[in-house]
Amino acid sequence: MKKAPEINRENINRFLCPSCGANMVFNPQNGQLTCSYCGYAQAIQAVGTVEEKSYEEFLRPEAMQLQPMAINAMQVGCASCGAIVNFTPPETAQECDFCGAKIVALPKAADPLIAPEGVLPFRVTTPQANAALKGWISSRWFAPSKLKDFARPDKISSIYIPYWTYDAFSRPDYDGERGEHYYETVYYEENGEQKSRQVRHTNWYSASGAVGRQFDDVSVPATTSLPQNYLNALEPWDFAELKSYEPAFLSGHKAQTYQIALPQGFQRFKEIASGVILSDVCRDIGGDEQRVHNVSTYFSDITFKHLLLPVYAGAYQFSGKTFQIVVNGRTGEVQGDRPYSWLKIAAFVFVLIVLIVILASVLR
Ligand SMILES: [Zn+2]
Ligand SMILES: [Zn+2]
Repeated sequence: MKKAPEINRENINRFLCPSCGANMVFNPQNGQLTCSYCGYAQAIQAVGTVEEKSYEEFLRPEAMQLQPMAINAMQVGCASCGAIVNFTPPETAQECDFCGAKIVALPKAADPLIAPEGVLPFRVTTPQANAALKGWISSRWFAPSKLKDFARPDKISSIYIPYWTYDAFSRPDYDGERGEHYYETVYYEENGEQKSRQVRHTNWYSASGAVGRQFDDVSVPATTSLPQNYLNALEPWDFAELKSYEPAFLSGHKAQTYQIALPQGFQRFKEIASGVILSDVCRDIGGDEQRVHNVSTYFSDITFKHLLLPVYAGAYQFSGKTFQIVVNGRTGEVQGDRPYSWLKIAAFVFVLIVLIVILASVLR
């Protein structure tokens, strides 16, 4: 395992504006490294292809290619929820984007990680993300008025979320039974009348075989800081726009360190894959009903990619509870928790009752 490089003062200001010397950040609007002071913009050379890595080879300890996300990357951990966030100076992390807690730990040089193969750069700007959030909040019924304070630029931040994607081939052998329905007419007497009805039966035949499937880019979030249902709702990601990883894409943004390691992510992939395989097997068995006794699944040609996907995330406290908000950094789609104002609901119910009483007295 390689040691993290020492922080080098020269490297800290790696993305300096050639025109004025100020810091340049990745700007979602033009997709370029842009000087926030004079506006000078420079294209990011991400010409490489996003390559798959061999899973088996990677798991051999001597093959671990651990590097920090950027040579000048710093990291802080949240003492409250355990999330670790990477950033490059002059960016700072003062509040946890996932739980809203104040970050008191001092930043240190980022630990080496499995360097990402690809990044989906931000396309939604902070003002656009805020506008999307404002729209989302105002469309929430019975939200407390205080929620409106949340849609402020300092409340959500742009953060790349770690993902694994897996490719694998599987051709599992299975055995089971195929059920075929047939009907029998049953005659019976009711109130002295002769009647008949159809009764369904099933004939079972043994069935076995093998079904092949190539799994391609099955994505597994490598974070536990955001609820799975939000992450699912943010899909699909436009993987066609994936860029080969360049530290410049992170300049001015944060990136979360993966919390689910590569082998644990592969377990999750296997769960997803076994659901797909089961439906493949049932389709292969055919008939009206299927019984599956045994599926021997073996995966080969396993490859993976480590990706960073862009979201705006924020958390806020409301009557002692934490609520999370995420905005898709490519589409502006918002997902989040929201509190209900019982005062507003009570007022609404009261107005409704008054209206019903008035209506009733008018109609009488
Ligand atoms: Zn400049
Ligand atoms: Zn936290």
